[in-house]
Amino acid sequence: MSANPLAPEWLVHPDDANALTPAVWPPSADRDGAGAITVAGASLTALASEFGTPLYVVDEQDVRTRAETIKTLFNEAFAALGSRVDVYYAGKAFLCTAVAKWVVEAGLHIDVASGGELAVALAAGVDPALLGFHGNNKSLAEIDRSVGLGVGAIVLDSVVEVDRVSAAAEKHGRVQAVRLRINSGVHASTHEYLATAREDQKFGIPLADAPAVVAQIRASKNLRFLGLHSHIGSQIFESAGFAEAARRLLAVHAELLKDGEVPELNLGGGFGIAYTSADVVTPIASIAADFARVVSEQCAELGIPIPIIAIEPGRAIVGHSTVTVYEVGTIKDVRVDDSIRKYVSIDGGMSDNIRPALYGADYTVRLANRRSDSDPALVRIAGKHCESGDIVVHADYLPGDVAPGDLVAVPATGAYCWSLASNYNYLGRPAVVAVKDGAARVIVRRETEADLLSRDVGVTA
Ligand code: PLP
Repeated sequence: MSANPLAPEWLVHPDDANALTPAVWPPSADRDGAGAITVAGASLTALASEFGTPLYVVDEQDVRTRAETIKTLFNEAFAALGSRVDVYYAGKAFLCTAVAKWVVEAGLHIDVASGGELAVALAAGVDPALLGFHGNNKSLAEIDRSVGLGVGAIVLDSVVEVDRVSAAAEKHGRVQAVRLRINSGVHASTHEYLATAREDQKFGIPLADAPAVVAQIRASKNLRFLGLHSHIGSQIFESAGFAEAARRLLAVHAELLKDGEVPELNLGGGFGIAYTSADVVTPIASIAADFARVVSEQCAELGIPIPIIAIEPGRAIVGHSTVTVYEVGTIKDVRVDDSIRKYVSIDGGMSDNIRPALYGADYTVRLANRRSDSDPALVRIAGKHCESGDIVVHADYLPGDVAPGDLVAVPATGAYCWSLASNYNYLGRPAVVAVKDGAARVIVRRETEADLLSRDVGVTA
């Protein structure tokens, strides 16, 4: 069979539409004797029948292993330079108490970006000293609570926050450690909404303003300046952007050292992962080695000691851990020019994965409850919402006999899917089930109709 002309160029017509591409699926993914996909030894068919669909299935060990691996690889790369790397898990990617515990047990810190994320980390029992607090518009209440709790570091995003955090620290009789977020002006090669260091956007302050703002920070007896912070964007495949940001920040870092200590440099997160076989990802070991090389060369050139490095990956830790399982409801063969695109509608959609609609993100899909030797057909996985843009998978091949009642699974949904989920059309958000060694447990329960009505004060008994 040849490729469907409606298929995008990157999509290769598969020899076997049942195959699970290793770079995209959790390493534990496999098929059992009945042909059903298994994750960490648990059959997706069994999980769907026990917990319902749509269902996020997260491989617990995968999250733990990736967290430990990132920490180890970066620390090995920097140990040779006499420094270390503190890894903050970016909670915005996917935070619940279970995930918070896993990453802290792996030796990571956590970066939170709101009072809500802070509350989840605290509910997980995370020591506030392990937390970094981010955000371009922290409320006074969020600042007050963070400082009062003894949060490890607050990332100041604007000049006005210098006074706000200083005043909160004064009130609580503390000295608050702070970083200063810089807009490095580095243009990351990613989607416009994911690039966070172009000049024309809301995060951080210009590099040229840093010396004056740091002087203000240092003038406050209630603040301790840790260092500069940069996050150039998300889903970035090449190290060149990170390297350029590091060079630019270190030049200013060196200037700042003339008037006081600057113990660390935070280079943010954003390491890309493979969502499809077309995504060519730089391995974390190479990124760590590149970071170490660039930082050491630049520090040598500037004649300064190598600072402690901090990084904030989210997607690279949780992205591949999760697959979303859906049940197929309706199927339509839609004729476009002389070709057919099969619209396969599932019982979730943009409410559990907004990324395709928001960023044009591509995902892949596989039949999850069985294998089939039927000829591959080009499909589009559509959600059940009242939007024509409600697409979860723009294009992939599924066995052509895919039918209502089948289960399909979409891999690499661990980051920015659950955390960006909504109740659009009053769909309850799916449960999250953690699987390990063949056993499954619910870590976030499914939203019920009662949950959906619970805040509507007009609801009568
Ligand atoms: N740090 C900051 C400041 C961010 O804004 C983000 C994501 O938006 C991250 C870290 C994590 O990015 P990623 O999940 O791509 O690693």
